[in-house]
Amino acid sequence: MKKTIRDIDVKGKKVIVRCDFNVPMQDGKISDDTRIKAALPTINYLMEHGAKVILMSHMGRPKGEPKMEFTLKPVADRLSEYLNKDVLFISSPTVVDDRVRKAAADLEPGQVMLLENVRFRKEETDNGADFARELASLAEIFVQEAFGTAHRAHASTAGIADYLPAVSGFLIEKEVKFLGSAVEDPKKPFVAIMGGAKVVDKIPVIRNLIGKVDTLIIGGGMSFTFFKAMGLEIGKSLLDEENIGLAGDLMKEAEAAGVKMLLPVDVVCGREFANDTEIVTVDNDKIPADMMGMDIGPKTVAMYADVIAKAATVVWNGPMGVFEMSNFAEGTKAIAKAMAECKGITIIGGGDSAAAVEQFGFADKMTHISTGGGASLEFLEGKVLPGIAVIEDK
Ligand code: ADP
Ligand code: MG
Repeated sequence: MKKTIRDIDVKGKKVIVRCDFNVPMQDGKISDDTRIKAALPTINYLMEHGAKVILMSHMGRPKGEPKMEFTLKPVADRLSEYLNKDVLFISSPTVVDDRVRKAAADLEPGQVMLLENVRFRKEETDNGADFARELASLAEIFVQEAFGTAHRAHASTAGIADYLPAVSGFLIEKEVKFLGSAVEDPKKPFVAIMGGAKVVDKIPVIRNLIGKVDTLIIGGGMSFTFFKAMGLEIGKSLLDEENIGLAGDLMKEAEAAGVKMLLPVDVVCGREFANDTEIVTVDNDKIPADMMGMDIGPKTVAMYADVIAKAATVVWNGPMGVFEMSNFAEGTKAIAKAMAECKGITIIGGGDSAAAVEQFGFADKMTHISTGGGASLEFLEGKVLPGIAVIEDK
């Protein structure tokens, strides 16, 4: 178990929090502030418990230079609104300078300041010790709250913990609790659903999960590489040519491990990669040579939904079809619905899967939707995330 802000005394202490304020921007305005809202419980807790709060984050890719189009000023303004309190913001091109040091030193308990985009400094992504020390020198405690970058060893996500005691905020606590217990100690039957575009992206996850799951469900674009390995005709469907052999190996590994691996039995095919194309639904051995598989069919949905209904833990990563097109969204929607209705623990990892669940209105029915695409994948691969590893154990 990792230490959280609840396990330490923050009263009167300067606490530096690595948040994920990497929000999408449009014409200088924040177009989606979900990530800002997600950080509020931790910030409010620290304020209410008399901490002097210093927030930091990256946004976009300024590539180590103070490019003002990536300033965190809009985030400071939005935070001020939500916290009902002025959030102090000094737009320093070096992130830390004498003015910033003075402002941090002068903070009152319950006050909040936000540093400028940490990626204005090249040393951030290089995990430069000098920058990590500069950041650390502003505070007495480091709080990790940025799951989206926890798989990166950067100055503000990992290096800083060389100089300060590190604990987790509430978001990280939740990610570690649900993703961690799914990988380490899942309630059984444990079902993993893997989809998305490419097999290659998900191989390490599939490998790691084969040793743990009871059933492995495959859908989405990656299915066709498995079909090819089985000797089926896949028409113009997405194919990961280089990894056909590997797909075959994974099937053998699953069998040897006693894991049931389920592949689609029917497929919704389109003539072109477009929503308003000619569509046919066929069994998996009848994909027309001139068409491509773009969603799982109704027989597959029924089979998968049945397995999901009986699961005690379900982890889902990767959509079942091209859900961005309404005519090929049914499979993904049905799986999201089956998970919403499942009585077990339901966990969504992966950016597009999370977006699909939101879009179809099932988000509040899931036990946990991971906020980190790449980070949640690495977690499911069984990797140690540098930003999590630095947090002290209880
Ligand atoms: P996640 O972000 O949840 O990990 P991925 O990024 O791996 O998911 O995959 C998402 C993408 O996979 C979506 O854009 C979706 O359109 C695509 N996809 C799913 N099924 C197919 C398919 N049959 N053919 C082509 N693309 C597909
Ligand atoms: Mg994705």
